[in-house]
Amino acid sequence: MNKKKTIIETTILSLLIIILYVVTFTLLLSFSKSKTYDTLKSTSDIVQNIFNGNDESNSIDKLNNTFDENNSLRISIIIRNNDNKYTILYDNKKMYNAENTPEELVNINQYYTRKSSYGYNMIYYTILDNENGKYYIRTSIKESDTTSMSKNFLIYGSPVLILILLGFIFYKVYEYNKSIKPLKKGINELKVISGDTNIENSDDVLILSNSIELIKNNLNQKIELLNEEKEKTQMVLDSLTEGILVISEENKVIMFNNAVKNIISLDENYILDKDYNLLPLDDDFKENIIKCFKNKSDFSFDITKETKIYQVHLRNISIKINNENINCVAIIFFDVTENRNIDKIKNDFFANASHELKTPLTSIIGYQELLANKIITDPQDVEKAIDVTIKQAKKIDEILKDMLSISKLENNEITTIEELNVKDIIEQIISDENFKIKKHHIQLKTNLSDLIIISNKDDISKLFSNLIDNAIKYNKEGGIIEININSTDKKIEIKDTGIGIKDEDQNRIFERFYRVDNSKDKNNVEGTGLGLSIVKHIIDKYNYEIDVSSSYLIGSTFTVILK
Ligand code: ADP
Repeated sequence: MNKKKTIIETTILSLLIIILYVVTFTLLLSFSKSKTYDTLKSTSDIVQNIFNGNDESNSIDKLNNTFDENNSLRISIIIRNNDNKYTILYDNKKMYNAENTPEELVNINQYYTRKSSYGYNMIYYTILDNENGKYYIRTSIKESDTTSMSKNFLIYGSPVLILILLGFIFYKVYEYNKSIKPLKKGINELKVISGDTNIENSDDVLILSNSIELIKNNLNQKIELLNEEKEKTQMVLDSLTEGILVISEENKVIMFNNAVKNIISLDENYILDKDYNLLPLDDDFKENIIKCFKNKSDFSFDITKETKIYQVHLRNISIKINNENINCVAIIFFDVTENRNIDKIKNDFFANASHELKTPLTSIIGYQELLANKIITDPQDVEKAIDVTIKQAKKIDEILKDMLSISKLENNEITTIEELNVKDIIEQIISDENFKIKKHHIQLKTNLSDLIIISNKDDISKLFSNLIDNAIKYNKEGGIIEININSTDKKIEIKDTGIGIKDEDQNRIFERFYRVDNSKDKNNVEGTGLGLSIVKHIIDKYNYEIDVSSSYLIGSTFTVILK
């Protein structure tokens, strides 16, 4: 309600009441007057009927009987004398004081008001008797008697009117204050929420509506800020690789991030506030959630989704929603696939390493015991035992060297890099392996061009010596090895016409200690099963590429791209 409007409304209504009062008073006054005139006229007619000029005394008697002194009207019969003076023949009030020429007797058939000889205003109405035309029948009344009703209305009505007006004004003020009270209260509360307590809070609705506008703007800014904060939080949550899902004790999903969608294959259009039982989680998972709510304790378990392993942490937390602390379970999915695989690889590695070291060591210990206990005494047998012992010791040495190389590569040990010509390195390896090549009557074809790279010499040497060594080891007697360098594409090809690798083994040859069965069977082939693993580590270290194409029993091609 507007204060100005209320004042205008109240004023107009008050004026209307006053006007109504004045009009009523005027109407009352005019009504009394016309009633008085009617009464005077009708009484005159009655008197006219009663009075007979031919029988004066009898007529006066009759009039005396009809109108007494207490009548509010004064009724007079007046006769004009020859000297033009007037004599009152009859007067019900017994007031025989006649003026010389009362004006009303001149103004016949008219209503005439004048001050009477008794000192107060009278209204007169005079007619001439219709028989002789010399008798004036005059009816009159005190003017004050006719206006008494209006006067009473004025006397008693005015205080009533003032009371009504005051009551009306008080009611309007009360109504106005009552109507803006909740508004003021609301604005006070909003001021606290919007954070601007300086905003004016007056009794004027206009000022209040301005205050609301200010508060609205403040709140809009706050809402925008909150939305921005919310978006930021969601963006941060969505940028995490860990899946996050929060469930309230009413079983509703109240928060989740993008990662969760992928992890539990959630529908793209999944929205918040749905029952978590609708999530694609298995029964064990759901039971764990119930357990977390019930026991209010945190715990973790692993789940497998396709090729991935996730460690799921369930945390019992309390979140404030609508000023209420709600018991919730926060579910965090950590991708532990790599960790778990590393654990497995480590376990496998120790098992394989122990196994690979155990065989030559057992052989060494066995022969050494035979020699020490002089069980072998024949010089030829002794020489053979020493040969085997040295060979097995060398194998252990080789395994340990390879393990050390892998360990160094895995630990990302800093290595110095320099400008290298791959051609020089390969030529050096060929020269070192020349004895073996010749021994197996292998035909070596090379097409080597200069290829300058920046890398670590040891790593590049190990990379190609392992590949060339394998091409020799797994070749046939009198087979062919072809080594090509394409310096434009930085591509090096090592082709052999050896035993080849079956399709199912091709993916596994880079694993530590993995040796294809047929290669182990080959009596003359020595190996640790770590060579290609070292190759793969070097390739990954420098972001190079390696590709294997092989046909079983026909031959293999290893292609390295030094990008
Ligand atoms: P190893 O010490 O046994 O040679 P590697 O890691 O170098 O170990 O090789 C792993 C396995 O891959 C070998 O045991 C062998 O079976 C297979 N292999 C590697 N290179 C060749 C090749 N050029 N031809 C055929 N098989 C190969």
